[in-house]
Amino acid sequence: MYCVFSDVHSNFEALEEVLSAATGEGAERFLFLGDAVGYGPDPGKCAGRIKEISEIALAGNHDMAVTGRLEPAWFNPPAYKAITWTKEHLEPGLLSWLGLLEPARTYEEILLAHGSPRNPAEEYLLDSQQAAANFLAGRFRLCLVGHSHLPLIFESGRDSVKMSVPEHGTRLNLLPENRYIVNPGSAGQPRDGNAKAAYALYDPVGMTIEFRRVAYPLRVTQEKMKKAGLPAELAERLSRGV
Ligand code: ZN
Repeated sequence: MYCVFSDVHSNFEALEEVLSAATGEGAERFLFLGDAVGYGPDPGKCAGRIKEISEIALAGNHDMAVTGRLEPAWFNPPAYKAITWTKEHLEPGLLSWLGLLEPARTYEEILLAHGSPRNPAEEYLLDSQQAAANFLAGRFRLCLVGHSHLPLIFESGRDSVKMSVPEHGTRLNLLPENRYIVNPGSAGQPRDGNAKAAYALYDPVGMTIEFRRVAYPLRVTQEKMKKAGLPAELAERLSRGV
């Protein structure tokens, strides 16, 4: 069983809760879809833990900005501030590890992409039209994405692409005749109005993906952000899950 998780964004409390919940549910391998850092107060602890446990780890757009591969000026002001702060607070070893990660990889016939198959570093995959174009852009059966911070399922059947929004406990059966793009949601900064950390459990034998949410002590994270002098709005949004 795989734990699929994404967009940790330096939120160590959320990361630990996701890893321990998933391990308790039988996950033995971990696939990380990018954005270890950015926004939160613990870039080093998060990058270190992700490096240690992940079978595969992708680079997200924030990871790429921190390592000089994307222009940070394109980010909104609070995100830009957090990127600058992260650069100053991440040890050189982990910074160079982040710098080696790619925004897309293939792993055991699964395509992993931070944003989307056709633009892994930057596209937010949010509707079925976009998904249809992305199904045409690659030959994958299953693609796992992050980046939007929204748990989403895109299923390409005989003649249409269907989008659905999974909740905690939703189980997706991967049908052999269909193709899928699946987003587990964000561990460290959910944006679907639910403050709980999101992840998914992928069972390659039973061919299912189950979506999960878990509460974590977000006040601890917010307090650390305040002490670090990170923008207050970044701390505040964690309570609302936006
Ligand atoms: Zn992100």
